[in-house]
Amino acid sequence: MYKLAVWTFLLLILMASLQGAGAQSAEWLSADIGFFPDSNVEQIQAIYLADSTAEAIDAEVSADIVAHPQRITNDRTTQSTPPVRATGLNNLLILPCAFADQPIPTLRDNYFSDMRDELRLYWRELSYDQLDIGESEITNWYTLPLTLEAYQQMDITSALTLIFEQCTAAADLEVDFSDIAMINILLNESLGASWAGQRQANLDGTFKLWPITWNMDWAWERSGRYTLKHEMGHLFGMSHSMGKNGSEYGNSWDTMSHSLSQHTIGYNKMQLGWLDSAEIAQVNSGTTQTYTLSALASPVAGVKLLTVPVVGSETDLFTVEFRQIGGYDKMIIGTSIVIHEIDYEREIINPISHTPQIIPVQLSQFTQESIHNGDSLWEAGETFISPEGVQIHISAIDTDCADLLCGTATVTVTNPGYTTFLPTVRR
Ligand SMILES: [Zn+2]
Repeated sequence: MYKLAVWTFLLLILMASLQGAGAQSAEWLSADIGFFPDSNVEQIQAIYLADSTAEAIDAEVSADIVAHPQRITNDRTTQSTPPVRATGLNNLLILPCAFADQPIPTLRDNYFSDMRDELRLYWRELSYDQLDIGESEITNWYTLPLTLEAYQQMDITSALTLIFEQCTAAADLEVDFSDIAMINILLNESLGASWAGQRQANLDGTFKLWPITWNMDWAWERSGRYTLKHEMGHLFGMSHSMGKNGSEYGNSWDTMSHSLSQHTIGYNKMQLGWLDSAEIAQVNSGTTQTYTLSALASPVAGVKLLTVPVVGSETDLFTVEFRQIGGYDKMIIGTSIVIHEIDYEREIINPISHTPQIIPVQLSQFTQESIHNGDSLWEAGETFISPEGVQIHISAIDTDCADLLCGTATVTVTNPGYTTFLPTVRR
């Protein structure tokens, strides 16, 4: 396979918030940086590791962040309410803005209307038709008053704020902002990271924190829109999840981690209210239950998420979901059961920003006790056994059916309950 044939997604997040004067809630920013097959990944990693004495992260870092670290020094605040409701109609504005000295890219006809249609389709599929970003107003390109270099020389939060103010001011004659729930700013060059956040402004009589994504050229033009979708996911209230190795960008089952335009994980769908109570089953302590799971990406009703609360452990919860290749899950690495462990107090310090953040979800690691062939997938016949004794046995995965994403997986979960976790070892 062509090394890095699928663009490798990377790296760091800097969560920060700025207290807006008089604002009831805090402005915040979340950064994501990506690079693509035309970057030399190994070289970039080497530069980063040589350049930093911080604890190693296995996420790759773009050359931009090495040259221009975008350190956010504000105190952490938690983002209590999502900037945009994850259900119902939330009209999007697509706002292309060009640095004064950088060429406006030549795009094929209908590029932005295709983008609009595709983004709408994507969020409808992920939310089972419960989130609609509407007909998405699209503006023409506006040209910023300053050059790329002028914005590069500002601290990043000032640059993003100014870009937001200048782009929206330029668009104000054309756009009625009273209809707009969120704004995707598309830039024609890169300041390093792409960002999601909020900025306070009075637009067409509405004074509020406006939900914004700032997408550098690579985030929307060269990347299959993976990062653009990921940034929008932050506006709906989703955080990153972590891969097995503890990398914030290492979970390839989650568009909010290793973004490939795939679905997000069942945990996020539960948090956002996209799964209803009939689609979530809980396996309580002291019980063994067998369920037949539908594919998480399937639009058809069925049990799509198992939750297994764990008493007396750092892990608060295991989640079990069935992922089948198909729909926007066409990019996942295989059809299998996926298990995550949730720790609501998992605090991660980003080694670049040194900013602490809570990331509850991590892809579960294989334990020695597990019955498993060692690859990344949990397949029929295999059994996950957690250190606490939770057993998740996959007895069957059946994809021999006619419709897209109509497969099922049969799973038996044993949650042994508290007594297993007493610190007495009996052998
Ligand atoms: Zn992110």
